[in-house]
Amino acid sequence: MKFSDDIKYIKGIGESRATAFRSVGVSNVGELLRFYPRAYEDWSKIVPISQCILGENVCIKGVVMFPVKNERVRGGMLIAKATVTDGDSVVAVTFFNNKYIDKMLKSGEEYLFFGKITLGKYSAREMVSPMFMKANQSVDIKPIYPQTKNVTSKMVQSAVQNALNSIENIPEYLPENIIKRYDLVSLDTAIRDIHFPKDDDALQKARDRLIFDELFILQLSLLCLKSENTEITTNNIVKESYTQEFFGLLPFEPTNAQKRAVNEAVSDMQSGKQMNRLLQGDVGSGKTAVAAAIVYTASKNGMQSALMAPTEVLAVQHHETFKKLFENTGIKCELLVGSTKAKDKKEIKERLKKGEIDLIIGTHAIIQEDVEFDRLGLVITDEQHRFGVKQRTGLCSKGENPHVFVMSATPIPRTLALIFFGDLKVSILDELPPGRQKIDTYAVKSAKRGSMFEFIRNHLDMGYQAYIVCPLVEESELMQGIMSAEEYYKKAQAPFNGYKLDLLHGKMTPKKKDEVMMKFKNGETQLLISTVVIEVGVDVPNAVIMVVENAERFGLSQLHQLRGRVGRGKAKSHCILVTDATGDEATARMKIMCETTDGFKIADEDLKLRGPGDFFGTRQHGLPKLRIADILTDTKILMQTQELARELMEDTDSFKKQENRQIARLVSKKINSLQVSNTANTI
Ligand code: ADP
Ligand code: MG
Repeated sequence: MKFSDDIKYIKGIGESRATAFRSVGVSNVGELLRFYPRAYEDWSKIVPISQCILGENVCIKGVVMFPVKNERVRGGMLIAKATVTDGDSVVAVTFFNNKYIDKMLKSGEEYLFFGKITLGKYSAREMVSPMFMKANQSVDIKPIYPQTKNVTSKMVQSAVQNALNSIENIPEYLPENIIKRYDLVSLDTAIRDIHFPKDDDALQKARDRLIFDELFILQLSLLCLKSENTEITTNNIVKESYTQEFFGLLPFEPTNAQKRAVNEAVSDMQSGKQMNRLLQGDVGSGKTAVAAAIVYTASKNGMQSALMAPTEVLAVQHHETFKKLFENTGIKCELLVGSTKAKDKKEIKERLKKGEIDLIIGTHAIIQEDVEFDRLGLVITDEQHRFGVKQRTGLCSKGENPHVFVMSATPIPRTLALIFFGDLKVSILDELPPGRQKIDTYAVKSAKRGSMFEFIRNHLDMGYQAYIVCPLVEESELMQGIMSAEEYYKKAQAPFNGYKLDLLHGKMTPKKKDEVMMKFKNGETQLLISTVVIEVGVDVPNAVIMVVENAERFGLSQLHQLRGRVGRGKAKSHCILVTDATGDEATARMKIMCETTDGFKIADEDLKLRGPGDFFGTRQHGLPKLRIADILTDTKILMQTQELARELMEDTDSFKKQENRQIARLVSKKINSLQVSNTANTI
């Protein structure tokens, strides 16, 4: 039997089962063997009843003490009860609506039971509907598969068993030197053991090998994509750089890091090849000026540019900034967002098509509309947490291989950068503009709110502005002392009597939000009480205090983003984290925030503190979906495979070598799936 054989040739699978399997994406033997267990029942580790922990799944071995008692209860339900002892302690075992239990479980005989231990009604320990078998059978670790209505875990288990029995040896595709160097088990062993491991050690080795494969192929594919990207020719060629001229327009001297980033991007655009570049920089490092510099050069060379922001508020802000910067340059810059009037939209689109607009600024959504360009040469995205190869490739369909420049608002831990941005070249702004003072950060208890308000009033009196951010809350939490922005705004009226306050939250219309933001930007509002809508990118240099209420409810990178809203001017800025939480994790987060302002360091700490999958919250992050690896926890293997993938890429003959033929085949398959869909993942 081969991997490519149809599923229906596996023993025990007829036409109807084959259809069921196909419905869960398993249509051949290879796909079945890559359908990994979700968990395992370990029948090999028998736990003494007295040592069972409530709530845990365990295997116990014991004798049924009395004949099983069947009881009918109200509603007609049948309950079968047995008492099982291992000679030391007892456990009550209960089954519902199964009239055969009394025939299957015999008094005086010994069985193995596998299930969750709970606190019973009449006994200290109970197992409800456990799986069981005669104790004299050979015991092992059994796989549990993701179940659907038509495909049960048992069905998968027996199909996998039968498939493995009819395959003599799963061919290895990694060359011997890689297997030796990373001390991997063979693919044959790994696949057999991931389904039916004989012990924990075998399971761990199997997992390590399969995680290795998955991350290795993924990273190698991303690197290939990057080198492919740099090979795409384009007619959008910068003939002359206008960087110096642009720098003259800035009200400040660019930092060396900014100059370097601009030069890197401009030289990409001069090469005759499409640019695919990422700008990573901490909050406040001045990414906008870099973007403006390359827009300037692009438009002086006859190209149109598009700039996409993650929110409307930010699009509006960018529009203001660019309009001011390009005031007397002849570069025409327009805003196209959801709230733009239909008439204006139509006119803007027409002018874009005719090439009368040099820079269009909007949100991601807008660009997906029926916008046409005359000569789109540069696409810039200001991202927050959204990544993904597919999103990026999608953007380019609007022009003839336009240059792509991505700005990341959140520093990414170094170990993850390749996965997130493996298809891009990277520029880093590792220097903040001069004259910035360190933002002092304090964590305070809510009892200190009174003196905090006084501190804020003093600063407002000096002419500065301040933010207070409240978490988004559910109705039910309002009772528990967590305040919504609306409520906070009401309560703040008294302590801030005579000051100009305003409220900003996500439920407002985009137009209203913009109004509020504009007033704050213009200095008409002194204190802005807000939800996290202001999180990313907002730039008001006169704001010097950032208060975060219920700070424990925010993740580290979010707190860092919020703090980044202040400290943007010359004045001393403060960040006050209000929290009464005493838990270890919350305390650790506050401590890190008070100790460092380095976004890259915070990102690393964030990754360490948070559990798998949590790093970017529940937000869709566009990461390729993985079968077995967890990018956030399998860091060691991630680094090994990163190193190996790089080595292979450096040797231009790698893929011509016979020993790497199979790797090359898998990589090209992977690249296709990355470009077609974010979720497809077939190794
Ligand atoms: P971010 O990288 O977070 O997007 P911005 O581009 O919004 O940062 O810049 C933050 C602030 O710093 C802005 O007010 C901007 O005008 C200012 N700024 C940017 N570069 C410099 C510089 N080289 N010198 C002084 N101020 C700068
Ligand atoms: Mg920004």
